[in-house]
Amino acid sequence: MRLRLDLMCILLAAGGACAQQQDFSKVEIKSTQLGEHLYLLQGAGGNITASVGADGVLLVDDEFGPLADRIRAALKAISDTPVRYVIDTHYHFDHTNGNAAFAQAGATVIAADELRARLASGGTIGNGATISREMQAAEPGALPQITFDHELTVHLNGEDIRAVHYPHAHTGGDSVVYFPRANAVAMGDIFVRYGFPFIDLNGGGSINGMIAACQTVLTGVPADARIIPGHGEPGGVADLRTYLKMLEDTRAAVAGAMKAGRSLAQMKQEHLLGAWSAQYSPPKAFIDTDAFTDTLFNSLNAHEARHGKPAR
Ligand SMILES: [Zn+2]
Repeated sequence: MRLRLDLMCILLAAGGACAQQQDFSKVEIKSTQLGEHLYLLQGAGGNITASVGADGVLLVDDEFGPLADRIRAALKAISDTPVRYVIDTHYHFDHTNGNAAFAQAGATVIAADELRARLASGGTIGNGATISREMQAAEPGALPQITFDHELTVHLNGEDIRAVHYPHAHTGGDSVVYFPRANAVAMGDIFVRYGFPFIDLNGGGSINGMIAACQTVLTGVPADARIIPGHGEPGGVADLRTYLKMLEDTRAAVAGAMKAGRSLAQMKQEHLLGAWSAQYSPPKAFIDTDAFTDTLFNSLNAHEARHGKPAR
């Protein structure tokens, strides 16, 4: 439920107002060791993956500014070294709101070029249908100091931490972060475990990019790699494969219905994605079956508008 409230928070109130409205006083930061120098921190908002060691700390995402002290305290229980780097997986508030606090304390924030532009401008996040909210522009101190187009590697704690930009996936500026030595990969919200995923079409995301990113990750990691989602518990390659198959099959269902001339309203009336509801649209789901149908339809439509042909 907490996860759902966080997600609703970003989408309903959006921007800085939400962090102030949300009560963080009872949030505890739970840390789980995933490898010799690798930890998962979970509080409110998106997961934080942390490389912690003698060289310093690197965070993948940083949740909410008001939680920065508690995140630091959780890290201090592991190591005394400071947070030197933050890599943002995508611009959404529940993953980047701690940027200013960590940057102010000396960390260098790193992200894909497009993420910086989106944070700087703010804008509408949504699926082109029932989910559509404004996100405020971030303060200048929250913007990444180092950005990259394709990929960038940070060498820290004996690990080659590789951030790779996957275009037009969950948003327009997503990065996946690989920890080859720890045999783990942090996927941000390209991979989530709360049900059907939210895809921020307004913010540059697309179903085709989500699928392409998951396919690329699966071809690039060992069979026993740990896959860290943006929300929820870490999984393995089999979990990502199952999730990818759902994305591929639901896309195929909607693309087929579009080709057959069905309208979006008909697809929803006929429960086109009903076979996936039990697993991916639990009661009070953040993205229920209708919202996911909207998302796929709008994403494929936009793809056709750009490329003039059906998306597979
Ligand atoms: Zn997100």
